[in-house]
Amino acid sequence: MPISAVASAREILTRLHDVMASRLPAQAKLNAVVDIIGEALESEVCSIYLLREGVLELFATRGLAQDAVHVTKLAMGEGLVGTIAANVETLNLDEAATHPDFAYRPETGEERYHSFAGVPIIRKERAVGVLAVQHADPRRYEDVEIEALQTVAMVLSELIANAGLIDTTGTTTERPQSTAAVRLQGFKLVEGMAAGVAVYHQPRITIEHTVAEDVEAERHRVYAAFDKMREQIDRMSSQAEFGLGGEHEEVLATYKMFAYDEGWSRRINEAIDSGLTAEAAIERVQQRTRMRMREIADPLLQDRMHDLEDLSNRLIRIVAGQLGTAAQLGLRQDSILIARNLGPAELLEYDRRRLKGVVLEEGSLTAHVTIVARAMGVPVLGRVRGVRREIAEGDRLLLDVGEDSVHVRPNAAMEEAFEAKQLITQKRRAEFAKLRAEQPVTRDGQRITLMVNAGLRDDVAALDLTGADGIGLFRTEFQFLVSATLPQRERQQRLYKDVLDAAGDRPVTFRTVDVGGDKSLPYLNHDEEGEEENPAMGWRAIRLALDRDGLMKAQARALIEAAAGKTLNVMFPMISEPWEFDEARSLFEAQRAWLAARNRKMPVDIRYGAMLEVPALAEVLDLLLPRLDFLSIGTNDLTQFLFAADRAHPKLAMRYDWLSPSILRFVRRVARQCHEAGVPVAVCGEMGGRPLEAMALVGLGIERLSITPAAVGPVKAMIRSLDRAALAELLATLLVAPPDSIRSTLEGWAAANGVELD
Ligand code: PEP
Ligand code: MG
Repeated sequence: MPISAVASAREILTRLHDVMASRLPAQAKLNAVVDIIGEALESEVCSIYLLREGVLELFATRGLAQDAVHVTKLAMGEGLVGTIAANVETLNLDEAATHPDFAYRPETGEERYHSFAGVPIIRKERAVGVLAVQHADPRRYEDVEIEALQTVAMVLSELIANAGLIDTTGTTTERPQSTAAVRLQGFKLVEGMAAGVAVYHQPRITIEHTVAEDVEAERHRVYAAFDKMREQIDRMSSQAEFGLGGEHEEVLATYKMFAYDEGWSRRINEAIDSGLTAEAAIERVQQRTRMRMREIADPLLQDRMHDLEDLSNRLIRIVAGQLGTAAQLGLRQDSILIARNLGPAELLEYDRRRLKGVVLEEGSLTAHVTIVARAMGVPVLGRVRGVRREIAEGDRLLLDVGEDSVHVRPNAAMEEAFEAKQLITQKRRAEFAKLRAEQPVTRDGQRITLMVNAGLRDDVAALDLTGADGIGLFRTEFQFLVSATLPQRERQQRLYKDVLDAAGDRPVTFRTVDVGGDKSLPYLNHDEEGEEENPAMGWRAIRLALDRDGLMKAQARALIEAAAGKTLNVMFPMISEPWEFDEARSLFEAQRAWLAARNRKMPVDIRYGAMLEVPALAEVLDLLLPRLDFLSIGTNDLTQFLFAADRAHPKLAMRYDWLSPSILRFVRRVARQCHEAGVPVAVCGEMGGRPLEAMALVGLGIERLSITPAAVGPVKAMIRSLDRAALAELLATLLVAPPDSIRSTLEGWAAANGVELD
């Protein structure tokens, strides 16, 4: 050493390729490999350790005592070799014995050697072995040498998998048994517990062939993949945020930067020059970047690293021609889905019976993917760090959103504790179920109307299960989100009729289509006004519906016909000014007249309501109230606009509290105005589904809540244990001179006054 990086790596790979293709037995192949590497790198010692039964065993060596082969064993994390495998990282030491993890093994005769370099042999992102070289001279290895070792380690991973030296069939046996259980922390998005195996939304590809047969052909494959990836990224940028959500702008800008980065493609080309296949070259460059980035503890850079990982993964999937998501491949067993972020439509593609939970690296409480998951009854933990590092496809996971955590590869004790807790939760749920027939009446006699939010056909079952008073918000756009094409009027009508039939006497409030924002539809051209910089505040909901009135007319007819003989409650989303409500109402009335003229059976009544989600409407509410049959406050959008904080932005997810004076005063003012005008007012945002927040709302004079079905039991229990008048009095003082945290004051008050907050 040192070596000319490319030439030597290529020479080694060519020789390794011959060994791999030979009919030698596995052990002989490994012996040949240590000789090839030792010679090529002029290394005094070259050894291969492989994981067997959870322990790293010396399988082949040139330079160490041959008697140590299959005798020297190190546990994961033990000695330098164990440390490399456990951390999946390279060590490069001029004086091995001074490293704190050094463990001396006399049988190897290694005391003569001072310098040491080792790289992990990786399979499916886990170390399955270690390749190490040693020298008598105390010196650090040069970067090109380390890189050559890393490249060889990649090829070795293929060799040992093909030789059956690691079990590639099972998911548990192929990874180190001693890889400890870990607990990852996150942010509660949808409460619940779930056990299952980890499934990546965009599955990782296991690289099967690492050594190129034809370097030029591999180069062309990479060029073609780069072209395709750039095309995809450009298309994504022009398609607003579909499928990404959250910090999409920033993410896309970074994607674009990397996709066109000359340095990245050049490094991949160099790796191909060294003899790797296109897939292996991309992964090789990624490994190198990963290691470099690890040394720089800058959170911003780490985030960017994340983007590059995503993109690199995408490039490998393009090269390998495997582009489907896990949904398209179909879930095979109880699964916990892992993704950076998801669009609501992407989530809805999954089989509800097998999808037990979701772990997101981003995500926020009121993003629509969260709302959809809540509607599907799928627990979601968001903002989980270290996902890709810690969780491999197929790992067993125990998701406990209540504890803000997910256990990865749990041990028996964790499984037991989890099961016990699940039993308690089930019992608790059974207790709530007993409340089904009880009335949501406060201790001082105020009957609260408790309704559920719905959007999917199956949600209607929640009415009977929870004993709710009706559906206070039926999000009609969910049907649009699950369809590949625009649902025809007949299909809409069928769904609405089914929902009304299932609801029986209980009222259902249909909200007209609310698309746009983070609910974009691939088949609807949202960009006709040009690309939206700010889709949440853009051409969405009623704005889009009034401009594209064909869509709204079809929906109006579908709703009116579906409600024949019944009362139709319809409300319009995102009303900002009274004229928007008037126009939407007139559109419905025109359809009503049209149908009546054709002697269709009509609803007995149509009641029109508006959603208050845009703060501007509050300023002119007095003008609109006389025309309204009811009002519903959508606290999800309202909060986003009051605080100017994107509801899907993960960094803002925890910044503003629903129990802040601004929101509480705002709600109180609207509630008062509605009471004075005699217009029923409800809250239908996610805020109302949390017992403490719901308690505050009731204290402010809200008497109607429409919430997620799972929250009906806990909120009813809260209501039945609440003295509303006492709380109203407390809130009146709190809102005059708010304490530092209204939340903790209310929590304290609830505890002191026996209010059940589960
Ligand atoms: C809201 O904004 O609070 C609301 C209920 O509507 P959505 O969450 O569907 O935007
Ligand atoms: Mg809304």
